[in-house]
Amino acid sequence: MSNAVYPGSFDPVTKGHLDIIRRAAKMFDRLTVSVLNNSDKSPLFSADERVNMLRVICRDIPNVEIDSFSGLTADYAKQTGTDVIIRGLRAVTDFEYELQMAQTNRKILPSLDTVFLTTSLEYAYLSSSIVREVASYGGDISEFVTPEVAEAVYKKLEDCQLVNSKRKY
Ligand code: ADP
Repeated sequence: MSNAVYPGSFDPVTKGHLDIIRRAAKMFDRLTVSVLNNSDKSPLFSADERVNMLRVICRDIPNVEIDSFSGLTADYAKQTGTDVIIRGLRAVTDFEYELQMAQTNRKILPSLDTVFLTTSLEYAYLSSSIVREVASYGGDISEFVTPEVAEAVYKKLEDCQLVNSKRKY
């Protein structure tokens, strides 16, 4: 059995993430998408909410499971018996940080490899922070996230009274 972990903030999960999930799921017997719940970031969605959104949008991919963790990715990989981490690369700007993380993880756990999947061009510009920002100004995020996630984002922003102007979509 080949296992891989795709860790990330997924705050919220975008179509760019989903594209990476679908492609990685074809490469491994089992893929665990795991929400990193680190206290130094202040996310829009709680870890449980992000896990639930991922469960909904990945429900049709049989070999994908959703989990969450806090602390070091290398420790999490060790605990779960995983040797491969999946990360997505959008642009050169991602590269330096991702290379540093991959090398650090290998230093901590030498058996751990990071596999990078390059983004599909249509999602190269897309990030969770862009989604949050566009939605907070009432903009249309239907190109960026699935309908279930879009609903959850608008609702959360309304609940937090973070909408700067009235929702237009
Ligand atoms: P993190 O805070 O760990 O970077 P993110 O949720 O922002 O978490 O991203 C998780 C992973 O998904 C990262 O490897 C990131 O480069 C990748 N990723 C994010 N957006 C996209 C996208 N549009 N296309 C491909 N990969 C992406």
